[in-house]
Formats: sequence, C-alpha cells, structure tokens
Amino acid sequence: MRVLVTNDDGIYAPGIVILAKFLAEAGHEPVVVAPDRERSSVGHAITLTRPLRLQPLSGGPYPDVVKAYACDGTPSDCVVLGLDEVAPEIAIVFSGVNRGPNVGDDLTYSGTVSAAMEGLVFGRTSVAFSLNCKPDGEEQLYETAGAFAVHLLEWLGTHPLPQGVLLNVNVPNLPLSLIKGVQVTRKGTRAYEGKVNRLQDPHGRTYYWVAGRPEDEMVEGTDVWAVAHGYISVTPVHLDMTHYPSVEALCGQGLTELDLEN
Ligand code: MN
Repeated sequence: MRVLVTNDDGIYAPGIVILAKFLAEAGHEPVVVAPDRERSSVGHAITLTRPLRLQPLSGGPYPDVVKAYACDGTPSDCVVLGLDEVAPEIAIVFSGVNRGPNVGDDLTYSGTVSAAMEGLVFGRTSVAFSLNCKPDGEEQLYETAGAFAVHLLEWLGTHPLPQGVLLNVNVPNLPLSLIKGVQVTRKGTRAYEGKVNRLQDPHGRTYYWVAGRPEDEMVEGTDVWAVAHGYISVTPVHLDMTHYPSVEALCGQGLTELDLEN
C-alpha cells in the first residue's frame, strides 16, 4: 500500500521517521512530504502569500527505499503538494507520529490532525497518530505507535471509513507489551491552567508566553481517559463542524424572521 506520510514536528523528527520505517518494513510504500522544520500548533493553515519549495532528501534518517521531500510550508501545505504534485495516486494519508498527545480541544490547534483533515478534503483515507509523551525528560516509544499504524493500515484495507471521517489516534508512551488494548473514544476535555505567563526580558520589558498545565476531565469513554489508562485511543473525527440540532432550534427561535428594516 502506498501512503503519504507527513507530520508537524518536522521531517527529521523521530516520530515520522519511525512511522515511515515501520510501514516500509511491513512491505508498504511510504512517501514522505513533511515540513522542513517544526510547525506544531499551526492548525489547518495553508500558505497563500509566498511560494513553496519541495526539497528531495538525500541521505538523512530514512531508509533508501523511502522517497522523502522537505517542504518549507505547513503540514497542510505538505498534504496539498503531496497529493497534487508528488503522488496524486496515493489513497491514504498518515500524519505523525506527533511528539505529545492530541486530545480534547487541542485537535483544532494541531498541525498533525489538521494535515489529516487536509487529506479528507482531498477525499483520502486519513489518520493522525500522536504519542502521549512529555516533550522531553522521558524515553519516547514511537515504535508502539509505528506497530499499531501497520496493523491499522491493514485493517483499513477491508474496513473503509465513512466519507468525511478521519481517525485521531493517541498511543500511550508504553512498550507494546504493556498496551491494554484499543478503545474507540470520543473527544474529551482538556483545559489549560495558567495559560498566559507574564514574564520579563533581560531589559525589564514585559513579554508573554502561552503555555499552561493540562487539566484533563477524566471521563471514561474519552480520548484523555483511554491514553491515561494504557489504551490506544481511536477517535473518529468528522470535518463537518455544523451543530445540526441548532440549525432547527435557531430557526424556531425567530432568527430568520428578524425585521432588518427597523
Ligand atoms: Mn507536533
């Protein structure tokens, strides 16, 4: 199976290299088009105001059989160029494996998940993979996610997803032998405490750094609960953000009958 592989941590990040390696070792044909530097948290941005370049990688961390291109745009730019220019016949987009989870409302910030959304826009089967690890200070076990990606790819061969639906996969940072199983989940809630940090630069001027500590609502059945309890979380995500019950409700509340002349 040919797979377009991208990410938002950059083409040299260990997560994407391991994902491509696992796919290639299982006999598949990954084609990597990924940002030339980290582009985490850029969401679904595409680049319209300057030209984009694609640079074929020679050498680098990928096995020789893997074609890889670095792009100076966003993750979604990579999918656009990957599917429109590099390999239009590819039917599957895998994004990741991200360094850190993409759970709760972080989906809308995530370049990793947005790249999979761009795959959906192109009508392709799309999956985002993230590892529930800390940014540093602990070993990051991307191999667990790589192994699951191979299983999932083979499963998708006989179980096509509904149109307009992608899978958002979060994998615990555990060896495969300690994974408890796979749970199909819904998006949970993750809030950030102390989001804005007010600091001072060496000249005494104020600056701000947006960060914050994640506070998860631990409810069974959600993505945050599943990864925290040792399960691989698979959330089906629909790109259509319309809240259908409100369409009728708003009409019933007279919004469409407002007298605009008075
Ligand atoms: Mn990232």
